[in-house]
Amino acid sequence: MGILKTENLVKIYGQEPNIVKALDNISIEINQGEFIAIVGTSGSGKSTLLNMLGGLDNPTSGETIISNKRISKLNDEELTIFRRRNIGFIFQNYNLVPILNVYENIVLPIELDGGKIDTDYVNKIIDILGLSKKLSSMPNNLSGGQQQRVAIARALATKPAIILADEPTGNLDSKTSMDVIGLLKVTSKQFNQTMVMITHNEEIAQLADRIIRIEDGKVVVRGDK
Ligand code: ADP
Ligand code: ADP
Repeated sequence: MGILKTENLVKIYGQEPNIVKALDNISIEINQGEFIAIVGTSGSGKSTLLNMLGGLDNPTSGETIISNKRISKLNDEELTIFRRRNIGFIFQNYNLVPILNVYENIVLPIELDGGKIDTDYVNKIIDILGLSKKLSSMPNNLSGGQQQRVAIARALATKPAIILADEPTGNLDSKTSMDVIGLLKVTSKQFNQTMVMITHNEEIAQLADRIIRIEDGKVVVRGDK
């Protein structure tokens, strides 16, 4: 069953005559527990599509349906809460909070939602991501790769039903990248999470259950099984 669907998504940036059709009628369906790679050249519309899948931006037309909810029907406040409960985001620029240490960053989404921290689970994630010795460090004192791992730990900490990741290993060397994606795959299967990641890296894309390839805002391969 499709936990994440889009219907005829169109996204147009700019004003006539200088418009960019970033998404051109995209209809996809992603099942619960699937691990999807979105692949395409720079400017093909990958980030725009991921933003729409997470309800971070409004389409020009068309719909995103998450867990059977048409997110256009939610107001801003409802959408914020819905996102926090259902989706873990891993952004390219990490979005870590500079005044909080590593541990505080990782558990922040749980605390914002008033939830209880599953210490065993969070510690396991921290351990696998190699962050145990960095928990009291401030983000500014970490390398790019370390910050990326903190962002991944934070996205996993709430055990979201859906994880959306934009080049989650863009700053990691190839061995660490394969390890981290392997970890994401293992945790997503263990918790029946749906993972959608953008990647430029074909080797990493091959780890996915299914590859969705886009060109000029259109789906050219949907990897139907
Ligand atoms: P990708 O992630 O595949 O590199 P993007 O989704 O970032 O592609 O961009 C798709 C197209 O939309 C590109 O032509 C890009 O320049 C354009 N675009 C993306 N965001 C904006 C924006 N905020 N304003 C105007 N054009 C944009
Ligand atoms: P990537 O290709 O890695 O996805 P981009 O460099 O295409 O990243 O885009 C980075 C950010 O800049 C995105 O948030 C996108 O929406 C925005 N952006 C991309 N192209 C444009 C543009 N032509 N005008 C304004 N914003 C843009």
